[in-house]
Amino acid sequence: MPRHALATVCLSGLLEDKLAAAAAAGFDGVEIFEPDMLGSPERPAEIAARCADLGLAIELFQPVRDVEALPPEDFAAVLTRLDRKFAVMEQLGVDTALVCSSVHPRAVDDDDLAAVQLHTVAARAADRGLRLAYEALAWGRHVDTWDRSWRIVAAADHPALGVCLDSFHILSRGSDPAPVRDVPGEKIFFVQLADAPELAMDVLPWSRHHRLFPGQGSFDLEAFTAAVADAGYAGPWSLEVFNDVVRQADPWRAARDARRSLLALEEAVGSPAPGLPSRPPVHGPAFVEIAVDPDTADEVGTALHALGLDATGRHRTKPVTLWEAGDARVVVSEEPVPTTSVAGLAVRTDDPEALASRAAALLAPRRPLPHAAGEADLRAVAAPDGSLLLCCPRRPRPGRADFWPGDFVPIDVPRRAGHVEGIDHVALTPPWDDVGETSLFHRAVLGLEPLGEWEVAAPFGLVRSRLLGAGAGADALRIVLSSSVVRRGGWAPGVPAPQSLALAVDDVLAVSRAATAAGVRLVDVGPNHYDDLVARGWVDEDTAADLHAHRVLLDRDEHGEYRHVVTEVLGGRVFLEAVQRVGGYRGHGAADAPARMAAHRRARVTGPGDHSVGSTPA
Ligand code: MG
Repeated sequence: MPRHALATVCLSGLLEDKLAAAAAAGFDGVEIFEPDMLGSPERPAEIAARCADLGLAIELFQPVRDVEALPPEDFAAVLTRLDRKFAVMEQLGVDTALVCSSVHPRAVDDDDLAAVQLHTVAARAADRGLRLAYEALAWGRHVDTWDRSWRIVAAADHPALGVCLDSFHILSRGSDPAPVRDVPGEKIFFVQLADAPELAMDVLPWSRHHRLFPGQGSFDLEAFTAAVADAGYAGPWSLEVFNDVVRQADPWRAARDARRSLLALEEAVGSPAPGLPSRPPVHGPAFVEIAVDPDTADEVGTALHALGLDATGRHRTKPVTLWEAGDARVVVSEEPVPTTSVAGLAVRTDDPEALASRAAALLAPRRPLPHAAGEADLRAVAAPDGSLLLCCPRRPRPGRADFWPGDFVPIDVPRRAGHVEGIDHVALTPPWDDVGETSLFHRAVLGLEPLGEWEVAAPFGLVRSRLLGAGAGADALRIVLSSSVVRRGGWAPGVPAPQSLALAVDDVLAVSRAATAAGVRLVDVGPNHYDDLVARGWVDEDTAADLHAHRVLLDRDEHGEYRHVVTEVLGGRVFLEAVQRVGGYRGHGAADAPARMAAHRRARVTGPGDHSVGSTPA
C-alpha cells in the first residue's frame, strides 16, 4: 500500500513538535521543509536519528529553488549551493530533493537551457546516489504548468531527474490531470496532495493562505489521484498543505485531520487502507442527546413537550429522560454540565461495531460509555468538537446487549398523535478554524455529502454555513455547521456558539399553535421579514399575516419551501426548531438566519416584548 507522508511545513510548532505529531497520527514519513531544519539546533544527522526513532522515513528534502534556465554566471553559483545541499541530504538520509521551477528574475524563457542545466544538476546528484523531482510552481517565472515541466524533464533525459506533481499547482490552473496517466510512473518521483476552495484570486496567495487537506475544498482530488495511480506512481502520497489556520493549530490535531483526509481519499478512489472497515449502512439519527444544566432542565422539557414530544422513558440508573414523537427521539441528560448543549448524535446502523471501528481507524478517539450490568453497551467515539458520535443498532440483535431503548423504564403516559415526523437536522457552531476538520470527519465516518454552502450577513459578523447530509425520509441524516469567520473583542453576541435541534413536522402552523398554547415563546423576527416575503411574490398579504401570527419563518429555493418556528435560546446556547419542508427544498433556512439571530439577541437583551435594545452586550 502507498506510504503516507506529510510535509513539515503543514504543521505548527518546532520541528520536534511536527515530527512527533506526524508520527502520532500514523504517518510513515515526512518531507523536511528546509526552513524547519534551519531553525533546529539539531544537526541533520540528529534529525535523521529522531525521525528513525519515531518510525518516520524522510521522503523528501524541500524546496530547492531557482536552479534552471539561468545565465552561466548564476548557474555556477547554483552548482556550489547544490553541492552543499546534497551534503545535507546525505546526512539526513533522504534521497530525493524537490526542485521548484524558477522564479529567479534572471531566469530565461528557454526550455532547452532548462533541460541542459537540470541534466547537469541531476548528474551531480546521481553521483551521490540522489535524485531530483522537478515541480512546476503555478507561479513559476516561465515554467508554470505540469506538462511543461514534464517536457523539460523528458528532454533532460537523466535517470536521476523526474517530476513532482503537486495537485494544487495543477488544479489551481484548471489543468486537466487526466494526461498524467501517460507519464511513465517511474518518472513521477513525488506526488503532493492539497485541496483548496474555489477562489478567484492569484495562485500565489491562494496557495499560501488557502490550501486545504483533501476533501475539505473544491478540487477534484479523486480524478488527480486516480490519474497518478494509473500512471504507475509507486511513491508516497504526501500532503503539502498550508493555510492561515493549520499553520497555527495544534500540530497533533492537525496531523490527525491530515491523515484522516488521506485515508478518506484512498477509499474514495477504490484503494482503502488495510484495516479501515468499510462504512456499514447508516439509517439516520437514532437519537440526539441534549445535556441540560440544572437551571434549564424544566425549560427544555417544557419546550420539547410543547413542540409535540412526549417523555416516554426514564433511564434505569441515570438522570436521563427519553422524549419521543414519530421517528424523533431526544435523550435529555441531567448529569451536571456547565451549560445546556447538544452532547451527542446517535446514528442507526446495520453494524455498530464496524462503524465505531471505522471511526477509530479514522483517528477518532473511542469513548467507552459507563453502563450498569444489563444496560446497553453502546459504541461511541468523540467528534472533533468533543461531542459523542454513538453507533446504535437498528433493532435488537440476538446475543448483543446494545439496544439502548431497553435502558429506559417506560413512562405510562398516552402518546399524543402529533405532527412530529422525525429529526430534520442538528445545527452546530464549531470554531471557524475547525469547520474543515469537522466537515471532513462527518463525511469520512458517516458518508455525509456537502449539500450546500451559504454566507449571510448576520448581526455579529459574516456567518458561513454548510449543510452535510445523506439518506432520505426516515433515513435522512443532516448536520449544519455554521461559523463566524472572525470574532474578536468584547462586542459579541451573548450566544457565541449556538446549537439547535430541528424537528421535522408535517404542519408547522399546528405546531406553532400548540407551542404557543403551552406557553413556549417562539421567536418573532418582526413584520419586515413578512413584508419581504410579499415583495418577493412568495406569499400574499393574508398568508404573510398568518405566518407572522404563527411566528413561522419562510425560506424558498427552486425546489420548494422551508417553513419553521424557533424557540428562544434555552440556557446558554441551545434552541429548538420545528421544520416543515414543502416540496424538495434543499437548504436549512440560512436566508432568514440573520433575522432569527437578531430576534434571539433582542430576546436575551430585553426580554419578551421589549425591543428597546441598549448598547451593552449581553
Ligand atoms: Mg509542492
